[in-house]
Amino acid sequence: MICSNLSAANGRLTFAGRDTVELAEKYGTPVYLMDEQRIRYNCRVYKENMDRYFPRALPLYASKALSCKRLYEIVAEEGLGTDVVSPGELYLAKSAGFPMDKVFFHGNAKTDADICFAMDCGVGYFVVDNPDELAAVDRFAAERGMEQRILLRVTPGIDPHTFEAVSTGKVDSKFGIPIETGQALEFARHALSLEHVRLMGVHAHVGSQVFVSTVFYDTADIMLRFLAEMKEKLGYEAEMLNLGGGYGVRYTEQDPTVDIGYELSTVARHIREGSAALGLREPMVLMEPGRSIVADAGMTLYTVQSTKRIPGYRNYVAIDGGMTDNPRYALYRSAYTVYLANKMDQARDFVCTVGGRCCESGDMIQENVALPAPERGDILAVCTTGAYNYSMSSNYNSIPRPPIVMVDGARDYVAVHRETFEDLARREA
Ligand SMILES: *Cc1c(COP(=O)(O)O)cnc(C)c1O
Repeated sequence: MICSNLSAANGRLTFAGRDTVELAEKYGTPVYLMDEQRIRYNCRVYKENMDRYFPRALPLYASKALSCKRLYEIVAEEGLGTDVVSPGELYLAKSAGFPMDKVFFHGNAKTDADICFAMDCGVGYFVVDNPDELAAVDRFAAERGMEQRILLRVTPGIDPHTFEAVSTGKVDSKFGIPIETGQALEFARHALSLEHVRLMGVHAHVGSQVFVSTVFYDTADIMLRFLAEMKEKLGYEAEMLNLGGGYGVRYTEQDPTVDIGYELSTVARHIREGSAALGLREPMVLMEPGRSIVADAGMTLYTVQSTKRIPGYRNYVAIDGGMTDNPRYALYRSAYTVYLANKMDQARDFVCTVGGRCCESGDMIQENVALPAPERGDILAVCTTGAYNYSMSSNYNSIPRPPIVMVDGARDYVAVHRETFEDLARREA
């Protein structure tokens, strides 16, 4: 199966060693399950390997993959920092007691209110995206009589899906300031001239679901050359180099497995050699995994409502959830592995489209799925839904969001409650 936390026993799908049909009965469907031990394992892969291979390093969990208080507690216990992209994520992290000095605040359109809120929370670092924000951060830090630590977000001009440095493409991005045009150097020069910001280094994030090692080598090379340019032209040596997130995870049997520990060892060697060649002191290296921390620690369970056969066209299976709890197929045609959790020992001879319950034809979870012939009441499992499902969920059609249930060995507990109809009406005037 695609992840070691999946198995089958007595015709039932098991997740984190637990019978999924029993969990569906206990909590109702749809339900997001999260495997606490797998989250911790994924955190340790980064923490232990980065501690081992880099002289100074810190992995930061990228909140946008899944942001809830229980997750922040687990990530903090595992010794990671976190990055947040909005004051809402920051609020949840702070409410969970996350150490603020290990929080990095991203975003390409931070408002004055966002900046003030983050400073008043005591956020460790701003990842400043553009000169307008830089000026605002300096001004609000001055008002508070403080010096705000910052990284600058730059674009190295890498397209992760052609795995080459390209001169256009990713230079053309709404995030960050390009190195290639000379603007990033001016951005850094300006930051160094300001009294109330302290420039700690630079950040780049090139993409997501990356399976090719050279993407990170290329990024590191370009970033190290930029550090060398800053040293030469500005007399400034950066303390931190943040390479962003993006290692891929397996959604289907066709996806390769990324050996993240090995990848980190090779990135570390690359940075060590590159720094030496350029006469730089090795910077502290930060990485921002999101998907690879939570994706395979998650699964969504649904109940089959109907089966429809349209001769000469296709078969449909309708479930009690859909694009409201998982918009990724509708948005990106993302592949998923789907099982009928209560029919694991039956032949998968019914090829169908798994459709959701929303009034929207594009509301599909997957097409061309082979399942045992489904019947109303069967439990349908979609694997690897821990990242970008709950965090991208919506209330379209006024559908309440599912709960997040944590599974931890023999224990299971609710981390986020199922939304109620009263919750839907709560903000109405
Ligand atoms: C999305 C994002 C990440 C996390 O990417 P994953 O593919 O989930 O690992 C990290 N850093 C930044 C700035 C991002 O935008």
